[in-house]
Amino acid sequence: MYSKNVLREIDAALAEISPAWNRPFDGKRACYFSAEFLIGRVVTGNFYNLGKTDCLTNLSSELEDVEDVALGNGGLGRLAACFLDSAATKGYPLDGFGLRYHYGLFKQGFNDGFQTESPDDWLKYGDPWSIRREDEKLQIRFGGQTVWAVPYDMPIIGYGGKTVNTLRLWQSEPIIGLEFSAFDRQDYASAFKEQNEAFAISATLYPNDDTDDGKRLRLKQQYFFSSASLRSLFYRHTQSGGKPEDFAEKFAIQLNDTHPTVAIPELLRILVGENEMDFEQAFSVAQKTFAFTNHTIMEEALEKWSTELFSSTLPDVYPYVVMLQNKLRRDLHTKGIYDYNGYNLIDNGRVNMARIASYVSHSVNGVAAIHSEILKATVLKPWYTIYPERFSNKTNGITQRRWLGLCNPGLSKFITERIGGDWITDLDELKKLIPYADDVNSLRQLNEIKRENKVRLADYVRTREDGFTLNPEFAFNLQVKRLHEYKRQFLNALSILDIYYRLKRGEINKSEFSPTAFVFGAKSAPSYRRAKGIIKFVNEIARTVNSDTDVNNLLQILFVRDYNVSYAEKLIPAADISEQISTAGTEASGTGNMKLMLNGAVTLGTYDGANIEIVAESGEENNFIFGARVEDINAAASSYSPVKIYENNSRVRKVLDTLIDGTFSDGGTGIFRELFDSIIKGASWHKPDQYYLLLDFEPYADAKLRAIKAYPDRIAFAHMQLLNIANAGKFSSDRTISQYAEEIWGV
Ligand SMILES: *Cc1c(COP(=O)(O)O)cnc(C)c1O
Repeated sequence: MYSKNVLREIDAALAEISPAWNRPFDGKRACYFSAEFLIGRVVTGNFYNLGKTDCLTNLSSELEDVEDVALGNGGLGRLAACFLDSAATKGYPLDGFGLRYHYGLFKQGFNDGFQTESPDDWLKYGDPWSIRREDEKLQIRFGGQTVWAVPYDMPIIGYGGKTVNTLRLWQSEPIIGLEFSAFDRQDYASAFKEQNEAFAISATLYPNDDTDDGKRLRLKQQYFFSSASLRSLFYRHTQSGGKPEDFAEKFAIQLNDTHPTVAIPELLRILVGENEMDFEQAFSVAQKTFAFTNHTIMEEALEKWSTELFSSTLPDVYPYVVMLQNKLRRDLHTKGIYDYNGYNLIDNGRVNMARIASYVSHSVNGVAAIHSEILKATVLKPWYTIYPERFSNKTNGITQRRWLGLCNPGLSKFITERIGGDWITDLDELKKLIPYADDVNSLRQLNEIKRENKVRLADYVRTREDGFTLNPEFAFNLQVKRLHEYKRQFLNALSILDIYYRLKRGEINKSEFSPTAFVFGAKSAPSYRRAKGIIKFVNEIARTVNSDTDVNNLLQILFVRDYNVSYAEKLIPAADISEQISTAGTEASGTGNMKLMLNGAVTLGTYDGANIEIVAESGEENNFIFGARVEDINAAASSYSPVKIYENNSRVRKVLDTLIDGTFSDGGTGIFRELFDSIIKGASWHKPDQYYLLLDFEPYADAKLRAIKAYPDRIAFAHMQLLNIANAGKFSSDRTISQYAEEIWGV
């Protein structure tokens, strides 16, 4: 809820930025097309960037009551939000384009340890930053349906307030008002149906992360915002006297994953179908306009639409996909390629979106060094073979304004006192902190800041988690991210259970073990059975361990409810250890790892995604890196036998058996047996233990214990933490956005 005081300050802020927001602009603009923007609390970021620190202090409790804007699932949507902040701060003309979902990501609750979901009706509290542009609405046509796309523009204010860009989100509405058509004929059933179907297009965010659920409505959503965005840009271009063939000189469009890829055939349709350009020239314009970012190599996330679904939903667009397919074959022939394997845009009756994006773009990038290499070697190898010059890497980043300046005022002050405040817009400045890693007074102060952040978090947790009391004297170990098998929260849970039993058996000496709180935060896709089972499993372990007086002076376990951006802003500043334990080769980059590093957590992680670059910057000796690398996994794959590990390793057996021996109850759902089977037997089309939990179990347990044992030497631990902070400069999204702007967009 927005209080009157906050609304008054927002009005003042909008008036203040109005000249910068409305300033005419004549150069080339970059456009970030994204189905998700996970922006969190807009108001705090805007006040921060406008220097309204007095508002942040005086209104802090009222700002707490403002809802998160969660128009995204996880990392991909949060990246889009960080990019907007960085571009505006660096003065790049970059606008965001997406969907104005009426309901954002569901709110999570727990019932007997199981996840429950309820709708996120964020608009109920108002949307004071957005301006509805009634005069710029336009009609979007699907097969037999036409709807309004109404743009809502939100200002994106750069730090210092000099540059104000725009996030334009499209809302779908019925064309036919209550007074017309079916209502006229008193055919109320059809009239309401028509209305509901129109509203439905932008009604809900798909709550899946890293999966493609191929639904007609989702394709409609993608086309709806891609087409509306493109057409509004094209209209702006031609209205100001631009020629269709010069479109790419005025606009660069970055596709955030394949979700907006339908914009490619749509631009061809606009150029060829509506502006009578010849196909070859239109192709060239499209190729110069578009650039593609891939976010995953997970097969289940690579979007493919059945031709039947695609052509019936978008009959005006599908012919351009067919024309592309024909042109591609001609292009391949000129290169002497007659085997279309890996190239076909329409393959086995399915339209392959990643291939369209690779073909009709001038730039294809991955989001961390290892990920970009894997792309070239596997999923996009055929395209790398014929267009090597298109491929590059753009390692993700995070905005330090939100993920340090706003969320960790204590640490921000500590830093500014030592090296000045330039880090706010130039994160490489943090390197100047390196000498303080050997200054005991600074390290003591750093520990004190961490403690204060833990106390602050504990107070917050107490009110949100039924009075649960985190002990701020404990080391805080965090795994916060979407729940997915590849991220291996299950492995974390098993290792905690292993520690628990070894403490009970006396195999880990209690006097040597340092008290640790294990905190999880994660939402599972509502339809993802195993992920939901893992949440239940962690909650069962937590119940047992937290109430066991033998160990609860040493261990705490908490799964927080409804992890979101605002919760992350509370949790991350309090973290000592950052769990980044995805199977090598599965996490494209990760950005949670960067937020935690910047806030002084050491990484307990695998050689995966940006973890590799994080430890290259901050030093292996200042982190806890373990486990199989991509090469090891590839080498192990064919002979890997989780059953053998289970049979030969009593610790593994003990913790896995809790799923089937009645130690924990899954309330009769059978999900614990299913989790057990997913490791030991495999299930449906999956191999047993497809994410290699048991392969990494011992190295992980060892590394985790090393990290826990390192903690009591608080000065040595703070030394590692400060070196992580000092070397986090590379992971600013300011750096990432400059690379996109200069190496891809030319803005
Ligand atoms: C940063 C962030 C993520 C991404 O976390 P990863 O660990 O990179 O998967 C997901 N959700 C929220 C709320 C975030 O702030």
